Amino acid sequence: MRILITGGAGFVGSHLCDRLLKEMHEVIVVDNLITGDINNISHLAGRDDFSFVKYDVSNFIFVPGKVDAVMHLASPASPNPTSPYGYPQLPIQTLKVGSLGTHNALGVARVHEAVFLLASTSEIYGDPQEHPQKESYYGHVDIVGPRSVYDEAKRFAESITMAYHRYHDLDTHIARIFNTFGPRMRLDDGRAIPNFIVQALKGKPLTIYGDGSQTRSFCYIDDLVEGLYLLLQSDENYPVNLGNPQEMSILVLAEEINRIVGNKAGIRRVPDGRAPSDPQQRQPDITRAKSILNWEPKVDLETGLKLTIEDFEKRL
Ligand code: NAD
Ligand code: UDP
Repeated sequence: MRILITGGAGFVGSHLCDRLLKEMHEVIVVDNLITGDINNISHLAGRDDFSFVKYDVSNFIFVPGKVDAVMHLASPASPNPTSPYGYPQLPIQTLKVGSLGTHNALGVARVHEAVFLLASTSEIYGDPQEHPQKESYYGHVDIVGPRSVYDEAKRFAESITMAYHRYHDLDTHIARIFNTFGPRMRLDDGRAIPNFIVQALKGKPLTIYGDGSQTRSFCYIDDLVEGLYLLLQSDENYPVNLGNPQEMSILVLAEEINRIVGNKAGIRRVPDGRAPSDPQQRQPDITRAKSILNWEPKVDLETGLKLTIEDFEKRL
């Protein structure tokens, strides 16, 4: 297949490029590098089966030649308001790429009669009142809160994707991605795992926002990429959760990272560090992914963290 990946120079997108190229597909990346990094894909430069175009997909997209699949990953993804790469600092860009960008990416898929996959998110469930979260849960999102620029953009993105499926008969897929981590995450993107690893490697205390009792479930990047690839090839048009159901508190995550790195500086509590609407708990119900895709995560947290720490150490 000839596959267009929007946001392909980002963390998830660049790993997806590697995987698709390994499967002998041709890959075209379109990315404006607003939160991505050209170094994530620089090892692919010069290949005949790979090309990169620096472009903002919130504008009309024209792709010469045949396209067989469009995978729409372009969007800021970090909720941290103190990072320049966090969507609270990029609110209009985030809303535009989730709405206009998704519309344009769907337009490319329609013109080429290509398969379409949307990278959606567990954030569409907001601060969830159902636990664990099944795809049937409608979510609990503060429409005007600071996180809404991301959450509502992705909810719109899912809605317009289903409209293209129903109205234009497009073959579409929606992945609801839960917290994913791994090599190539930006050192300064502000999410918990990059923050903690950088702090631990520098021998500093790890910043725990609030009391650290809030939970997340972390999936290693290779597992997620496998799930995305299977979903792209499946017949499933309704949303599918992709994530690792192993849930833990942020405090336990921090202690685990300190243990692996051997950091003796402990933790530092930042009592008012939690952003408004920061979900208290999050865990995917992956029953549908298991039965439809025969997929479940294989990499345990410790193995994934060690691989990520190795990569961060090199880049620091
Ligand atoms: P990332 O910031 O590393 O990658 C996003 C990429 O999109 C970046 O390279 C960025 O430059 C690009 N981009 C943003 N706006 C663009 C625009 N208007 N035009 C062109 N390119 C644009 O983030 P990530 O963690 O790799 O996330 C990738 C996708 O997966 C996002 O859609 C995100 O919402 C989704 N997702 C990620 C996670 C996670 O835990 N990593 C969880 C849920 C959903
Ligand atoms: N968090 C933290 N310290 C940090 C960064 C994040 O305690 O240095 C917390 C944050 O408040 C949230 C959780 O870790 O409750 C996960 O945050 P992240 O930014 O990784 O992603 P989210 O799941 O909120 O999108």
